[in-house]
Amino acid sequence: MTKVAIIRCEKNEMKCPLTNCFKCLVEKKEGFAGYDDCFLTGVFTCRCPGDKLTDLANILKSKGTEVIHFCTCTFAKKTDAGWDATLNGFCENIDTLIERTSKASGLSCVKGTAHLPKGYDVEIWK
Ligand code: SF4
Ligand code: SF4
Repeated sequence: MTKVAIIRCEKNEMKCPLTNCFKCLVEKKEGFAGYDDCFLTGVFTCRCPGDKLTDLANILKSKGTEVIHFCTCTFAKKTDAGWDATLNGFCENIDTLIERTSKASGLSCVKGTAHLPKGYDVEIWK
């Protein structure tokens, strides 16, 4: 059983209650497809400019989290043809922030949760 947490972007916190993120986690699909089984240890909201992410990751780690997933909407945009990773999501610095968070906390970090864009190979920082 892998203990996973989700970090979302403040720019979406009043628009999406993580419905599809949770659905995919429970059903082990999309960004969570690699797990035989997984358990949600918590959810945090990133706030610009993202300088608290290390603190948030360390709190998640203290609660047993092994892997942090960053929401798909941080790096991809919804279009009529589906989610597109070639268009920016909410965060233009998400790769840098994920890398920094993984290095500082020692946790694996995964870029993606729900509705992965077509052709996108899930990126993992270990
Ligand atoms: S990835 Fe999708 S379901 Fe998850 S918070 Fe973003 S818009 Fe909502
Ligand atoms: S730093 Fe990026 S992920 Fe964090 S709140 Fe700002 S835009 Fe969203």
